[in-house]
Amino acid sequence: MSRQVLTSRAGTWILDLRTTSPRHLGAIRAWVAQHLPGLGSTHLDDVLLIVNELVANAYLHGGGPSHLQLWRGVRPCAVRVEVGDVNDEHLLLTRTGSGDPALGIRLVDNVCVQWGVQHHHDHDGKTVWAHVACDGFSE
Ligand SMILES: [Zn+2]
Repeated sequence: MSRQVLTSRAGTWILDLRTTSPRHLGAIRAWVAQHLPGLGSTHLDDVLLIVNELVANAYLHGGGPSHLQLWRGVRPCAVRVEVGDVNDEHLLLTRTGSGDPALGIRLVDNVCVQWGVQHHHDHDGKTVWAHVACDGFSE
């Protein structure tokens, strides 16, 4: 691994998930951790939980994920996760208060500052995004 990769840095990275399946979840989490060097362990745990839930949700209910986008800001420390899928429906993405959201989405709701769903206009599918705050203590 190069020295540059080990340094905290802002940036955006995209992972193509079109040919993946749920058995790749571990490798996907590893890819995320590799691209967030220097992130505090609590912050990284929150990000990995979000990634796991959003990608798993896309396999289960979204017709499969199309891509994962990771954005990192350094000052202030912040991480945004986006998972695209190929299904326009979002029955399980109701925010707390309406219906009975899936456990995964409740977890996401608890951990991140804000999350939402963006529908694609030019093709089928949507992007679910989550902004994961930093506790600020471990970095
Ligand atoms: Zn942080």
